[in-house]
Amino acid sequence: MSVPLLVGPDRSGRTLAVVAGRVTSAAGPGARRLDCDGADILPGSVCAHTHLYSGLVPYGMPPPAPPPRSFLQILERVWWRLDRAIDAESLRASAREAVARALLAGTTTLVDHHESPEFIEGSLEVLAEACEGLGVRSLLCYGATERNGGPAEARRGLAECRRIDPSPTRRRLVGLHASFTVSDETLREAGRLARELGTVVHVHVAEDLADVEDARARGTAGPLERLLAQDALPRGSILAHGVHLSPDEVALANRAGLWFVQNPRSNEGNRVGYPQALRHGDRVALGTDGWVADMAVEEAALRRLAAENGDDGAAGRLGAGHALVAEAFGAAPEPLGEGALGDLVVRDGKGVRHVVVNGRIVIEDGHLVTADQVEITRTSQREAARLWKRMAAIH
Ligand SMILES: [Zn+2]
Repeated sequence: MSVPLLVGPDRSGRTLAVVAGRVTSAAGPGARRLDCDGADILPGSVCAHTHLYSGLVPYGMPPPAPPPRSFLQILERVWWRLDRAIDAESLRASAREAVARALLAGTTTLVDHHESPEFIEGSLEVLAEACEGLGVRSLLCYGATERNGGPAEARRGLAECRRIDPSPTRRRLVGLHASFTVSDETLREAGRLARELGTVVHVHVAEDLADVEDARARGTAGPLERLLAQDALPRGSILAHGVHLSPDEVALANRAGLWFVQNPRSNEGNRVGYPQALRHGDRVALGTDGWVADMAVEEAALRRLAAENGDDGAAGRLGAGHALVAEAFGAAPEPLGEGALGDLVVRDGKGVRHVVVNGRIVIEDGHLVTADQVEITRTSQREAARLWKRMAAIH
């Protein structure tokens, strides 16, 4: 357990205490003080949907050839080749790189969705170690799918979700890749497992029309209706994207107590469309879908795309992530309030000065203090080169 922490006073005279991982009114004797002169204390940002396995992409992932013309081709030529090339060492490097970049940008929680079909068993432990070691709060799952190895592959994915334990800074979720790559039996099993573990399901829904068309071909109205019909979505489950849902479907998700996560840069990059109906969502958070978890950059993209698409309901999305995380960790919902998670960022005119997660200082004076940044970069360069070679050999 970290020592009691006293943060502040900041420019507005605000001082916060963090004891035993939670914000409280007083730190007591022996507290460590974190200087905030000329700076502001702010809540740490939440990235509500990401993929730590793509953390090495900034190290020159070769472009797909021939260039993909549809979303399915993007998956087949890029992400489903990358995930099959991932092994333990490249995953470890990828996660540490992505977590370091997130923390340096003031992001204190990552909701991850993981797949590495050639390295399923033990993969979440690698992610858990990277998150815990560098100090980010995490919600982890393996995204069960049948697209490479049928129902047996899905069972291994679900078993991997069960394998990792929760901790003060970690929650386990039950992951499904998406409706269009799993059978009804896997959907039912995911719902059962989430209820047994007292957690929720994290799944891609209606990211592209292909997911909707698949669900209709199976005789349901769409992927959301199919997931609900198979009892795969306990209240509080997390649906990434929702690009191709109707306002009525979003209302249905509201009644089922579900979360949506919008991923503006990813949706734009994959040319899947803008999630118009999410303006009707009660609970919509913001994610990066594997892009660097700098939420200020993601929010700027959201503002730009919302304006271009006439969406005036996008303002509260970054803040909504705090409620999602507070719910998962049983903390007070108002960030920085009494009983809230001890996750905060001190920003000044130059950017992020300090970052605290669960009362632990992870960035101090702009530098990562929980790991050697030079070693992370060196390992990323080495593992990225190896990963691109492995990827090139997969067809
Ligand atoms: Zn995703």
